[in-house]
Amino acid sequence: MECEWTEAQYERLAGLDAQQEVLSKRFSGTLERDQMFVQLSRELAAAGRERLKGFRDGVREPSLCRLGESLGKALEKEGFCWVVTPTIISRSMLGKMTIDESHDLYSQVFWLDRNKCLRPMLAPNLYSVSKDLLRLWEPPVRVFEIGSCFRKESQGNTHLNEFTMLNFVEWGIEKEKRGERLRFLADVVMQAAGLPGYRFEEENSVVYGDTLDVMCGGVEAASGAMGPHVLDGAWGIDSTWVGMGFGLERLLMLKNGGRNVKSYGRSLSYLDGISLKL
Ligand code: ATP
Ligand code: MG
Repeated sequence: MECEWTEAQYERLAGLDAQQEVLSKRFSGTLERDQMFVQLSRELAAAGRERLKGFRDGVREPSLCRLGESLGKALEKEGFCWVVTPTIISRSMLGKMTIDESHDLYSQVFWLDRNKCLRPMLAPNLYSVSKDLLRLWEPPVRVFEIGSCFRKESQGNTHLNEFTMLNFVEWGIEKEKRGERLRFLADVVMQAAGLPGYRFEEENSVVYGDTLDVMCGGVEAASGAMGPHVLDGAWGIDSTWVGMGFGLERLLMLKNGGRNVKSYGRSLSYLDGISLKL
């Protein structure tokens, strides 16, 4: 009778980065399957060890860090300033984003105590920094951050509890040019990520209302929005803006043709996308 991999075999082979073609194999019996499993897992583990050695003797820097650097450089070239802000934020910062008990995102927030949580997004900190810079600098004010964000997610191939977001915002541009500008800046990032094959999709977000998503291989790589926006008032800001948030692990998964964001993020099981459980 025809059979497929057992769940444990499938998991092991997927963890060893087996191709889809291998994962969907069918066998005429369990003996043939089990022999094939032993052979394939041995070969894949050997290939993994080689890749790991290649990493040690080659780039030595995980692609998550390298990607952050190249995206940062691309945005600096467009006049953006890199900011670094705390991952721990206050309840009132979330409140200003209208994320309270009634909000969809609220149940995804990791609370440290009654008033402090791990940031689920970069936007509140970017609003805060921008408010000061808009007072100190003449427009356009351009800032971005790359950093960890945290959301309780029911996992899956495209969601991590801890992921790396790039969020840029440009303030004080001509109202009529916002759409074009947002698309241009999204393209700057996607080109720098080595992903020219994407498309835009207009969406509706629980936080920002109408958004512009960047879709790549059926996966949402980024979400952008523009203002003036109802949220701006909470920060005392009255300006036009365009902004967009990208998930770096998703960009890496898409670039590498991977199936899961897990191996590209912060991990104890993977080093630069290579399993350590070899
Ligand atoms: P999704 O609908 O896929 O859950 P989202 O719309 O909630 O994502 P946004 O708030 O728009 O996500 O965040 C901006 C970007 O950050 C997303 O386009 C995605 O690339 C990335 N991102 C968001 N949540 C996660 C997560 N849990 N793990 C990995 N990347 C994420
Ligand atoms: Mg989104």
